[in-house]
Amino acid sequence: MLDVIIAGAGPAGSVAATLLARAGARVLIVDRETFPRDKLCGDTLNPGVVKLLQSIDLWGGPLASAPPLAGMVLSGPTERVEGRYGDGLAGRAITRRALDAWLLDQAIAAGARFEAGEIVRGPLVDSSHGVTVVRGLVLARRGQHSQTTRVPAAMTLAADGRRSVLARALGLSRHPKRPRRRRNAHPAGRLSGYCASRRGTRERVRGDRTRAGGPQAGGRRASGDRARSGDRREVCARDVRQPRERPRPPRG
Ligand SMILES: Cc1cc2nc3c(=O)[nH]c(=O)nc-3n(C[C@H](O)[C@H](O)[C@H](O)COP(=O)(O)OP(=O)(O)OC[C@H]3O[C@@H](n4cnc5c(N)ncnc54)[C@H](O)[C@@H]3O)c2cc1C
Repeated sequence: MLDVIIAGAGPAGSVAATLLARAGARVLIVDRETFPRDKLCGDTLNPGVVKLLQSIDLWGGPLASAPPLAGMVLSGPTERVEGRYGDGLAGRAITRRALDAWLLDQAIAAGARFEAGEIVRGPLVDSSHGVTVVRGLVLARRGQHSQTTRVPAAMTLAADGRRSVLARALGLSRHPKRPRRRRNAHPAGRLSGYCASRRGTRERVRGDRTRAGGPQAGGRRASGDRARSGDRREVCARDVRQPRERPRPPRG
């Protein structure tokens, strides 16, 4: 039997798999996607993440050559907030496509097994002694949704992201009632939602043509507006527009 089965091969799953495999555990990591794959993200790592990855010997490959970042800028029509890491600290700009694939490779190199195209349908639950215990995963192959496989393991890790099937099935998380998202939102509207969740920035990022800040000082964001400010190059992410109100149909 497996020691550990991990749902999701994002950074959380792959880093956990690497550490566990290095410690000698038999690890299977599954993901519905094949890698490399794209992931919606600002593609930036803060200095804390950089330090953490280095401290567990997960540094090299595309990370080592990723452009350094001195801080971040959040700007709107009337306000602009600049945050510099300072003290010689630097973040990194790297696409999730490159980062996640490299982290997964490190897990595999450490001895973890990876299965792509496996959809986690739910936890394998044992309630026989009056206590709910997770004993593994119920999986379905992509494209064969009706057939499921039960994969037992001594330990199960839910690293399946913010919409975790496992967390919801076990009542550990649920969909928030607010803020509600519009089904027809412009793709950039999702970035608006992300920024708006940060304390204190809600007003700044919700106005029309508000911009979410991108990396500075060597940042590598390609799309969007560019401006020069002092000795620093400021690259802004694409405009974040509120989706237009749809006219309501007349009553009656
Ligand atoms: C718009 C946006 C911008 C962001 N920008 C940044 C940023 O610049 N810097 C930063 O540090 N963080 C950023 N984040 C946050 C960052 O994306 C997350 O913190 C990070 O991805 C969490 O990693 P994770 O491994 O927990 O989950 P994920 O990266 O979401 O990985 C989860 C994995 O599980 C898999 N999975 C999910 N469900 C299933 C299932 N049912 N079956 C099988 N596999 C499944 C997915 O395919 C995925 O590979 C941003 C987030 C958003 C939404």
